[in-house]
Amino acid sequence: MKVLQMTSSNSATFTILTTSDIHGFRCPPDRSPSLCDWKRMCALTSLILDKKRQHGSSLLWIDNGDLYQGSPISDYFMKQIRDRKTGTHPMTQWLAAAGCDAFVPGNHEFNFGRGAIQLVSAGAPCPWLSANIVVRETLEPFFGKPYRIWTSKAGIRVAVLGLTTAYIPHWELPGHIEGLAFLPAVEAARKWVPYLREKQGADIVIVSYHGGLESDPATGESTEPCTVENEGCRLCTEVNGIDVLLTGHQHRRIEGQAINGTAIVQPSVYGSYLGEAQLMLARSDDGRWTVQGAYTRLIPVTAADDSEAPEWLKPHMEELNQWMDRPLGHMATNMLIANAHEARISKHPFIQWLNEVQMNAAGTSVALTALMDNHAPGFGSMVTMRDIAANYPYPNTLTVLKLNGHQVKLALEETAKYFALDDKGQIIVHPAYLSPKPQPFHYDMWEGIEYTLDISRPPGERVTRLLFDGAPLTTDQVLEVAMNHYRASGSGGYAMMLEAPIARQYSVEITDLMAEALLSKDVWHVELHVNWHVTGGSISR
Ligand SMILES: [Zn+2]
Repeated sequence: MKVLQMTSSNSATFTILTTSDIHGFRCPPDRSPSLCDWKRMCALTSLILDKKRQHGSSLLWIDNGDLYQGSPISDYFMKQIRDRKTGTHPMTQWLAAAGCDAFVPGNHEFNFGRGAIQLVSAGAPCPWLSANIVVRETLEPFFGKPYRIWTSKAGIRVAVLGLTTAYIPHWELPGHIEGLAFLPAVEAARKWVPYLREKQGADIVIVSYHGGLESDPATGESTEPCTVENEGCRLCTEVNGIDVLLTGHQHRRIEGQAINGTAIVQPSVYGSYLGEAQLMLARSDDGRWTVQGAYTRLIPVTAADDSEAPEWLKPHMEELNQWMDRPLGHMATNMLIANAHEARISKHPFIQWLNEVQMNAAGTSVALTALMDNHAPGFGSMVTMRDIAANYPYPNTLTVLKLNGHQVKLALEETAKYFALDDKGQIIVHPAYLSPKPQPFHYDMWEGIEYTLDISRPPGERVTRLLFDGAPLTTDQVLEVAMNHYRASGSGGYAMMLEAPIARQYSVEITDLMAEALLSKDVWHVELHVNWHVTGGSISR
């Protein structure tokens, strides 16, 4: 009867729920890694279903992307679909179970290639919306109509337009996005938002943008280099008529804020929060609804300890558990990582092993890698796919760049910025790598060259020793260096990588290379040889 009461009055509310960057319900880093955090999934599902029951046609739920990558379960089934060219993905089943109204693809959806994305989107229980991902030849939206319009029982017309960070070509393998173009989000919004208002008669326009904010919403001060990675603030200031901007991609918690009259929200990561936007509307004499105000908030999602995995998930978990627990190899050397910070300051055998895997696969004598996660456990004596996933949670592939000595030095100077000294002279992580989110994956450790980073010296002057083959590396000497595609694309401030020619690219993932290497030998002995030092301070413990 609630709906009838609302239609008879001249005021109404409308609710938008948003989730973003769920990353296959990856377990938060402080928890022991498992296939996915299905307890949190259950809690989020009941929260959404309760709200749907409560609000009926006056509510929509939009998932804002980066759903299909990030946990063992999401990645495994994306690869299955990619390789078998068929199959149902558990995250698709989750969207159906919780009644998703629309999905906006994020950048990570492309990690498994265009074919996998097409299969997954074709089997989706709701439309995929992205106005700025277009077919290069026609400039038509790749996923079809990039908006949907719903009319509530009270007669409120709500338009939802999808947008995706346009920075994807900077990270993705060219083969994964062949034939596609990624237009700036602002450009696409300028075209579509007025159309939705004027031609489609939308009373409410929601933009769901898998991208973030490039400036501080309170001060307007820019917080990062001006690229098309994050255009949220420009969307609010340069495009008129957006009532609510749902954001994501940066894994931030943003609620209760507005830019230029547009309410904004960002619901963190891994399904830890449900974002909610409430719109208050009034009906004028001509019967049209207009938005009077909007506010946003985040609802924490608390998992219940006694919850059970949903029936539809169980067979997927069984299949994956078997695959994850297959023994791949044995380590005679202790490769457990007790303290990630120490493993970045004093060379750890796990890092040496990982770099050697990359060098062997790519046929180079130099490689670099980061220790991707602050909770990476290293390897115990028996290694399984589960251990690999815990240490290397990204679907990165391998690239070989031809770097000259000057570029190698620039890259090492960039990596040395990861550290700072505290007032006790201890080497700590520079705050810029801790907030708004920890970025340990931007600190690289190299194999095949010798170097010293002196953190007591100013940034840009910290490389005090740099040798290749026992002799100082000259500025024009060229080395083939193996690294992941993410770094080779210049991500993390490594602009020098973009200037280096690509020697080779591989489509196999680094986690698969690790598994192949482990399978190739019964027992591994890793003899640590220390080729780099971080000096200039003591190690903080
Ligand atoms: Zn994300």
